[in-house]
Formats: sequence, C-alpha cells, structure tokens
Amino acid sequence: MNLVFLGPPGVGKGTQAALVVAAMRLLHVSTGDILRAAVKAGTKTGLDAKTYMDAGKLVPDDVVNRLIRERLSEKDTEKGVLFDGYPRTIGQAQSLDATFRELGRKIDAVLDFQAPDAVLVERISGRRTCGKCNAAFHLKFAPSKKGEMCDKCGGALVQRSDDRPETVQQRLNVYRKDTAGVGEYYRKAGTYAEIAAWRPIEQISSDVLVRVKKLR
Ligand code: AMP
Repeated sequence: MNLVFLGPPGVGKGTQAALVVAAMRLLHVSTGDILRAAVKAGTKTGLDAKTYMDAGKLVPDDVVNRLIRERLSEKDTEKGVLFDGYPRTIGQAQSLDATFRELGRKIDAVLDFQAPDAVLVERISGRRTCGKCNAAFHLKFAPSKKGEMCDKCGGALVQRSDDRPETVQQRLNVYRKDTAGVGEYYRKAGTYAEIAAWRPIEQISSDVLVRVKKLR
C-alpha cells in the first residue's frame, strides 16, 4: 500500500504519518527529513537545498524528484511507502506517477490534512526537535518531561530554523501558491480525501486509521 499525506506546514502530517507507518508497517518517506539529513551531512544537494529551505521556499522539482526516484529504487520501499511532504507541486505529482508506472506500483490513497492558518501557526511555533535523536516535541501539546532537554536521550531541543515566525508566513504563502493545487490533481484521479486536521490528535488518528485499514 502506498499513501500520500498532503497539507500545509504545521498541520500535523508528520505526527499522523508516524502513527500510520507503525500501524500499517509502511516506510515513512519525508522529503523534509531527507533534505535536512543532507544539510546536516553537508552534501552538495544539502548545501544547495539549505538556501531554499531557510528562505521558506520550495527546493526545485528536479532535485526533489531525483531524491525520490533514488529512494524508490531501494528494496525496502517495496513493502509500501507513506509520502509525507511530497509531492508539493503538480510537476512532482506527475514525476511520482511516472516513477510508479515504471515500477508497476500505484498510489492507494491521498489524504489532505486541512486546518485554519491560526491553528497552523500555533502548532509550528511550539514545535521542537531533539538535535541529537530527532525526536519531535511540542511546547504545549507534547512537551518533553525534561523541559528544554529531550526526555528520550538528553539532547538539547532546538527549533527548526524554518519554523521561526519570519519564515512561517512565507511557507504558508508557498503552500497556497504551489501546493494547494496538488489536492485538485489527486481529486481528479479519484484517490483523494480531506481530513479535518484542526481536531485533537487522537480524533484525527482514529479517523485516518479507519480509512487506511479499509484499503487493506
Ligand atoms: P517539511 O519538513 O516538509 O516542512 O519541509 C521543510 C522544507 O524542505 C520546505 O519548506 C522546503 O524548503 C523543503 N521541502 C521539503 N519537501 C519538499 C518538496 N517536496 N519539494 C520542495 N521542497 C521541499
């Protein structure tokens, strides 16, 4: 089974994705995570991507599509993939369709998580990540038991550089301009459902799991 999670930054796609991959034994493929790992490793792709990411802009399609094609050529993706944060443009959606056609695979469902901007800004501004083990926290909704330190490994919690208020509005603008149309692309393909993502996390997860389990 292959799933695509769409939605604006801060809507909680990553949190829901983690629950679904665990329940359904899928591979979590987040282009944001792949790009941040490349930045951390200091590769050429990472250095090029960082300029776009820090400005709240999209990394060019050819770079992201290449990363996804390479990832999908690996054997572990055969068990099924949950794409989180990809595709973000119509060009990326077309590239994924072409790659899947070549591989003889298909997208089973596209879930589009939606919430008003005020909810997104609140979720993004409180988001923190462990600089050491990458665990995710939220100052209000999922705080670490050790305050500013990770309660799993003791690492320092950091705010993503693109989660600062000055970049957040730009990311929301980019979403409206480039990514919102991707939902329409999949609506036409008939694999699309909207998820009301302003509800409490548990309600969203049970809704998502019911839908996804029906696909099995
Ligand atoms: P995310 O973690 O999904 O919010 O992504 C963080 C940043 O990485 C985005 O603001 C973009 O700069 C970049 N990025 C992640 N996924 C993509 C994508 N599919 N296409 C272009 N840029 C991306």
